Amino acid sequence: MQEQEVKILIVDDDEISRVGCERILEMSDYHVDLAENGVEGLEKIKSEGYDLVVTDLMMPKMGGMEFLQEIRKIDEKIIPIVITGYATIENAVDAVKMGAYDYLAKPFTPDEFRAKIERALEKRLLLLETEKLREERDKNILEHSIEKTRTFTIINCMSEGVIATNKSGHILLINPAAVKMFRIKHVNVIGKKVTGLTSNPDLENKISDALTRVTSKEVLERFEMTTPEGRVLQSNITPVINEKKECIGTVAVLIDITEDKKIEKVKTDFLNLVSHELKAPLGAIEGYLNLILDGITADQPEKEKNYIQKSKDRAHELLELVNDLLDLTRAEKKISSKLISPVDLSGVIKETFDFYKNEAKAKSIQFNIECPEKLPMIRGNAEELSRLFANLVSNAIKYTPEKGQVSLKAEKNNNQVYVYVKDTGIGMSREDAAKVFDEFYRAKNAVSQKISGTGLGLAIAKKIAEEHNGYIELESEPDKGSVFTVVLPVVDKSPAENNELLKRGIDGHKTNI
Ligand code: ADP
Repeated sequence: MQEQEVKILIVDDDEISRVGCERILEMSDYHVDLAENGVEGLEKIKSEGYDLVVTDLMMPKMGGMEFLQEIRKIDEKIIPIVITGYATIENAVDAVKMGAYDYLAKPFTPDEFRAKIERALEKRLLLLETEKLREERDKNILEHSIEKTRTFTIINCMSEGVIATNKSGHILLINPAAVKMFRIKHVNVIGKKVTGLTSNPDLENKISDALTRVTSKEVLERFEMTTPEGRVLQSNITPVINEKKECIGTVAVLIDITEDKKIEKVKTDFLNLVSHELKAPLGAIEGYLNLILDGITADQPEKEKNYIQKSKDRAHELLELVNDLLDLTRAEKKISSKLISPVDLSGVIKETFDFYKNEAKAKSIQFNIECPEKLPMIRGNAEELSRLFANLVSNAIKYTPEKGQVSLKAEKNNNQVYVYVKDTGIGMSREDAAKVFDEFYRAKNAVSQKISGTGLGLAIAKKIAEEHNGYIELESEPDKGSVFTVVLPVVDKSPAENNELLKRGIDGHKTNI
């Protein structure tokens, strides 16, 4: 109000009185307007807006009481002052009831008038300030509630579990992710101790620690805990500190790391296996070389040659192992990150047959192929599929004694291609058959018959089949032989489309998906 010009309206049918009031107020910096009656006054109030209205009570067209009522309807914050020549207590009371702020009886002195005006303006100022404060408060409440809703929405959408406790360790808040992690009913735990969440006492203990040993706002406790269902949770507990540096509660953030833990274990197991497998041939090579270097074979050239040959064999084994390991890592890579294209499986199978023909012949093994001229297309990686069949065929030849039989057969059945690698070799027991697809696993008969191998070929083959949405089945009987069946889904296309795909595949227009 101080910055803005004060606007006053004087409404009186008596011109002398009207102008007299205007003159008194002229000395101050007010903006003063005049109206002859209530109707004219209301028009001005609607169009101009005023801080104060000074009005006579007895006026033609519209009585003062009615005028007062109408002013309140337009703006409750306008301060009306009533002036009348017929000053009675009743009139004054009625006018105040109708909303007048004060009352001035004629005749009055300019000082009396100015004093009334000033008091009324103070009241107006107070009203406006109260209004402003109320608006600000309402705005703050609204902002606060928006902020609160936003925070709750974020906490509720988090994939991490959040549990907030008060100073005595009772739960104040628990988000849906935490509810899911502990498989509990939300409503039951608010206000209760965290012991109700899990039979594992770690969480409760660490929260108590955080509440008592608090020295900083830093994450105080980070630990792993296991739920009764076997999920591993990484928990970070932070104390909540107020301005007086007192701990008023804790916030626990829980991350489900069960899958990470599994992967970590698989990796460690694999590394242990690999180091174990590498250690044996390296140790043997070192041993033979030490014997030679120590001069033990100095005058025994035959023995020395034998040790060198043995070292060479073990080195060759190591090389095979490293190659298989490389193949395994290649097979681990998702097919989606490899170059994939429609693959003509009959071509891959025939190439494999041609490649191993001589090896089979060298062992006098009867090696047959039965494969249609055209097989439906397989979506995948030709190089990987070729590695899969090479592993199975080389095994069949390796584990089949001389003069045995190995056959390679392919056929289509119900949107799938079946490839059978059959041999009349050493076979294996049922227990071994269940494990031979595991990395480094070798069947007992293969080891006892000293047939060399890494135990990785079938693990690689299995991974390649799975990457092509297929699988491998095994039927085997000791001393009778084995049948490995590879089942792969065909590309769901018409023969014409398949031909087109084939043409594009051969032309080298391959797709990366
Ligand atoms: P390896 O390098 O030892 O041959 P694989 O992973 O290819 O490794 O095979 C795992 C094990 O499965 C072999 O050590 C062997 O015991 C058994 N095996 C695989 N193929 C045959 C087969 N055709 N006949 C008999 N045993 C087999």
